[in-house]
Amino acid sequence: MKNRVGRIIIGLLALALLGFYTYRQEQIHWHSVDVEAWGPAGGLHPEGFEEGVAMNAAPETPVQMSYAPAATEEAFALTEEPVPAPAEVPAPAPAAESSPFDLTDWKYMLVNGDHSIGQYEPENLVYLNMTADETDLQTSYNPNRIAVDARIAQPLLDFALGCKAAGLPVYLSSGYRSYSEQAANFTRICQNNGISDGKDARGHYITMPAGCSEHQTGLCCDITDHYREIKNDEIFQTETFAWLRDHCADYGFILRFPTGKEDVTGVMNEGWHFRYVGEEAAHYIMDNGLTLEEFWQQFSV
Ligand SMILES: [Zn+2]
Repeated sequence: MKNRVGRIIIGLLALALLGFYTYRQEQIHWHSVDVEAWGPAGGLHPEGFEEGVAMNAAPETPVQMSYAPAATEEAFALTEEPVPAPAEVPAPAPAAESSPFDLTDWKYMLVNGDHSIGQYEPENLVYLNMTADETDLQTSYNPNRIAVDARIAQPLLDFALGCKAAGLPVYLSSGYRSYSEQAANFTRICQNNGISDGKDARGHYITMPAGCSEHQTGLCCDITDHYREIKNDEIFQTETFAWLRDHCADYGFILRFPTGKEDVTGVMNEGWHFRYVGEEAAHYIMDNGLTLEEFWQQFSV
């Protein structure tokens, strides 16, 4: 009897153990399902946030990938474009930035004691009556005519006729002089004044050495009221001088050797010597009280 009761107890214990084991297995299974559904492996929260980051990063990565080739193409384009650009851009840049006046223009030719033009000769000369009483421009010389560079003949005639139209006498005293004529002038004036360098006691030229005279350019003219054997300071007292000084820029001329600028030009003041530079430069120079030397200093690059 005791053995039978013992087997029954053992059997019940075995059933209880089997039932407990089965229960535990069920618990583990559902827990693992929870873990898969909501846990780290497939859970929305933990990976939701990470995926959010990944989703935000994802568009950037492809964008960067798509930009990368474009950037590379642009990089090539940038390295190719600047190559021709420097060759083209600097060319106009200096001209645009440097100066409103192109000093290589013939109108601004600078001639003085420091700038000889050697044996330079104008290409074409035109002749004007000294009294400017004829409106036509002559092509041949006679003793009553002066020669000038053909390019300033009409402005000079207009200038002289403008003075006459204002009721004032005008006389075209001296225009173009060749190198040899200036050399003869220089020798004669030096001998007459007992000098050898063409300069007065203050070191200012009263006559220029050949090659250094503006008259050799044909771009200037000595203008007085009437014929004067000696041109001197008396001209400053004439109405003709006052009119020429006040209106020269309107015709493209400047008073080349003004009083007070002797140390700049190196030449004694000459109230009769007018130089053509064109209307724009003439107004700039006369309005600002400059000389052609100072004009060059301002606009040299
Ligand atoms: Zn002169």
